[in-house]
Amino acid sequence: MANWTKHHGIAMMEAAVGLERGYWGPLSATGPGACRACFESERKRNLSDRGQDLEERLQEPTPWSFGPSNTVVAAWAAHDILQYLACGRCPTLGARSYVDFTSASVTTVNGPASCLCRTDRTRDAALPEGNGT
Ligand SMILES: [Zn+2]
Repeated sequence: MANWTKHHGIAMMEAAVGLERGYWGPLSATGPGACRACFESERKRNLSDRGQDLEERLQEPTPWSFGPSNTVVAAWAAHDILQYLACGRCPTLGARSYVDFTSASVTTVNGPASCLCRTDRTRDAALPEGNGT
């Protein structure tokens, strides 16, 4: 999905909410910034050993959902999407914001400044001329 949206010039935002934490971003769009695959690759490379261990072990869906937490993350995601549509930039363009509901804190982590995989250029070169626009 993420590669399809980038290839077709469609911006995409992802978000998720757990029991104590949630995140939104990156907003992946055409132009500057990395694709989702490059963002995830760098994010995983920067995880601590404990972070990598937790991510591998904690793959189960949350046992229940807490509406207010979902609303907070959805509202922040909607804010960034609308800001991007209005002016072409937002805090999570190529970045991910994490909210920790236990401490009421928000942290934003930037992704790579540019796409490193070059998948789109390879795919564009493989398309017949005049296709893909
Ligand atoms: Zn990429």
